[in-house]
Formats: sequence, C-alpha cells, structure tokens
Amino acid sequence: MIRAVLGGTALIAAVSGGCYWIFMSPYSQIQGEFPYRKAGDTGEEEKVVALTFDDGPNEPYTSQIAAFLDERGIKATFFQPGACVERYPEVTTSLARSGHVIGSHAYSHQFGRYLTLRSVRHEIEQSDAVFARHLGMLPALYRPPWLLRIPGVLEHVRNCSLQPVSGEFCHALEVFQPRPARIARRAVAKARPGSIIIFHDGFDARGGDRSQTVEAVKLTVNRLAGSGYRFTTVDNLLGVPAYRRST
Ligand SMILES: [Zn+2]
Repeated sequence: MIRAVLGGTALIAAVSGGCYWIFMSPYSQIQGEFPYRKAGDTGEEEKVVALTFDDGPNEPYTSQIAAFLDERGIKATFFQPGACVERYPEVTTSLARSGHVIGSHAYSHQFGRYLTLRSVRHEIEQSDAVFARHLGMLPALYRPPWLLRIPGVLEHVRNCSLQPVSGEFCHALEVFQPRPARIARRAVAKARPGSIIIFHDGFDARGGDRSQTVEAVKLTVNRLAGSGYRFTTVDNLLGVPAYRRST
C-alpha cells in the first residue's frame, strides 16, 4: 500500500515535472527555438547580457528602473502586457523614446487566457492593437506570460513575424520580493556571456510593490559592470528586428 502511494506520488511528480519542462521551462527547446541566451559561439565570447523586465509598466517602479538605466547609459528590453500599457501609456512611450525596446507580453496576463491557441491568438491581436495605438509600432519580440507555450503557440508566434524570447529568472522567488542583495546574488551567479536575464517590474498585470527589484537591478548592474560586462537589448543580442512595422 505504502509502496503504491509512493509510486503514485513519484509518477505524479515525474509527469508534472515533464509537463513543466515541455510547456513552461525557460530552457526547453522541445517545441522549437526559444532562446534564453545567445547561441554560444566557440572561442572567445563577449561579456554582454540583455536585461529584461516583465509585467510593467508598473509605477513608480518602472520609471525608477528606467531612471537608473538611463543614468548609466544602459538599454534594456521591457516585455509589457497590453493591459499595463493601457494603464501607463506615457511610460511605455517614454521608455521607447529613451532607446529601450518594448516587447509584447500578450494582453491580460491571466493564466486561463493562454490555454487554448484561439485565446492566445486573440491575446496577441489585442496587445498589437494597444501597441499600435499607444506606441505607433508593433513589437517583433514576444515573451509568453509564465513562458507558457501550449502546442502550436511558438509556430503561431513565428507566423506573426514575432520572435519568441525566453530568459533566465533573476531569482526563483523574486515574486515574493526577497532582499535586493539575495536577488542580485542569484542574478549575478546566473549571468554568462549572452545571457537574457528576467526581472519583474510588475506582478502579472496587477502592479504591486517591486521596490526590492528596483534595488536589486542596481546591485546586479554594478556587479556585472564591475566584472567587465556590458548590456544590450534582446534584438541586438539575437540579431533580430525589434519591431515589425510602423503603423
Ligand atoms: Zn509575465
């Protein structure tokens, strides 16, 4: 009996682990190319990383991060849900004017909206309409919320001329806002030449206090810069366009 329960538990763990790997892991390429890092060249690799920020704009945190990056002359990539852009359109346009790149992070960031291909399609159309209205450009970079890609999503995204983008989470528990030093320590430890690092300037599309992330970004940048890293946007890192076309 005990053995059967343990066996069942192990099976559930294996199945859920397998599902996570296929559908949500930042690293899995099973469903097609989903870059979390620039493909490694052999030989000398340049010390460059792409900082990315998901789930904003979320004020005042997005503007605080932008002020720090601008002061340091660093360009980053912001993956924004259309619903957040509608809340703070002037923040999105200001980021783009400062040379940061705006990527699409779908529209609502509600889990149930990413479980069928039909609703994912609708989410992308909705966010495109928001970017067209407020940004005057359509992002060419797309990061699925929770990195969740059900079968067919990556193919659909590529058919829309969108480049799917993964990345490595700065800290597994960033959502709970641990101390900035802890977040930064993990982020720096993960950084390699060509890394795409994921921070969150918002929480889903619901806002929330991200002040620990703001401080963690400063610590991370200072440490990486101190060890010779420079920073670029995801489109530059991967050698792909940032936007599809002007509207
Ligand atoms: Zn997100």
